[in-house]
Amino acid sequence: MKLNSNYDNIKSSYLFVEIANRVKKFSAENPSADIIKLGIGDVTRPLAPCVVEAGVKAVKEMGDAKTFRGYSPDSQGYEFLRDAISRYYASFNVKIAPHEIHVSDGAKSDCGNIVDMFDDGNVVLIPDPVYPVYLDSNVMSGRKVIFCDATEEDDFAPLPDKNLKCDIIYLCSPNNPTGAAFSYEKLKAWVDYANSLGAVIIYDAAYEAFVTEKDVPRSIFAVEGARTCAVELCSFSKTAGFTGTRCGYTVVPDELCGGKLAKMWARRQSTKYNGTSYIQQRMAEAAYSPEGVRQCRENILAYQKNANLISDALTEMNIYHTGGKNSPYIWLKCGMDSWDFFDKLLAEANVVGTPGSGFGKNGEGFFRLTAFNTYEKTAEAIDRIKKIL
Ligand code: PLP
Repeated sequence: MKLNSNYDNIKSSYLFVEIANRVKKFSAENPSADIIKLGIGDVTRPLAPCVVEAGVKAVKEMGDAKTFRGYSPDSQGYEFLRDAISRYYASFNVKIAPHEIHVSDGAKSDCGNIVDMFDDGNVVLIPDPVYPVYLDSNVMSGRKVIFCDATEEDDFAPLPDKNLKCDIIYLCSPNNPTGAAFSYEKLKAWVDYANSLGAVIIYDAAYEAFVTEKDVPRSIFAVEGARTCAVELCSFSKTAGFTGTRCGYTVVPDELCGGKLAKMWARRQSTKYNGTSYIQQRMAEAAYSPEGVRQCRENILAYQKNANLISDALTEMNIYHTGGKNSPYIWLKCGMDSWDFFDKLLAEANVVGTPGSGFGKNGEGFFRLTAFNTYEKTAEAIDRIKKIL
């Protein structure tokens, strides 16, 4: 038996494990410190009332012989949810047919699993910095990865370099960790580039619900030409607070590889995935109902208020940053080694953030703060940061 030696090429310690270890050590040495966490990208506000109501109703259905359901008839997701997702896209003028939607337990699984569709000989282009799952899942299958540098010069929303040849392109907009988002024009440049190469874009739209600027598309399919080159991954995690509930979806348009990719993805899922639970799918349907969208929006607005607070304070302190406008993430230039900045913030302000270097080499010298804590804690953290900087 041989183990998959590609795993030897993955960074051993997961970023958030290292953060947790440092915080644990600091807390043990400073038991009275009141630590405020603006680090991990997890939501904190409760599920919307209509989502809870739909969940309770679905659980009751499962407890009654007349309405009990076992395996879902189709691992692609119940029609009621795929219809609701299709209507959700239509609400921002993007036409996606229900049969093009594949429901899952979240964007992370789809991100990791979608690589099964592509030959290991493909060259993969990944932005740097970005959500680490894209890199790690391709390293695990031994693919050649090249990077697209995102830097301060392009406000962390880079254009494609036409000299680079690749087959698979990952894009994340609004981006984790930088909060930067592609304008229509920039995204169109990526779509044209991918179509010219015959490459596929795996587009992660997990933060689309945070978009506020008019010229920032909420879906890659708002861009002309995207249906022949893109797959979109999306999630209820940040839109509706489902990080613990779990539901997401992938859109594979009919035009992609003449419909072959959609068939392959459905085949893969029906072999290796037995469908998202009925209860979760009913809750997700409620989140995308008009009332659900309104209720979930209230939570997003609360996070956006925190993001504005952080962003305004950094502007006042003349600190370069991106994000906040279309994202719960604020990416600031810390001007020193990002782990040293982490230790400084923890020791002097008792505030936890995320060192930029954990997201790629271009993250060195930068630092991520998140808007997911309460308004009061965020305001307190900002006061403390102002004092030490
Ligand atoms: N994609 C991005 C860019 C993320 O930041 C995250 C979670 O933080 C995910 C996907 C994971 O989403 P899910 O909770 O649906 O697995």
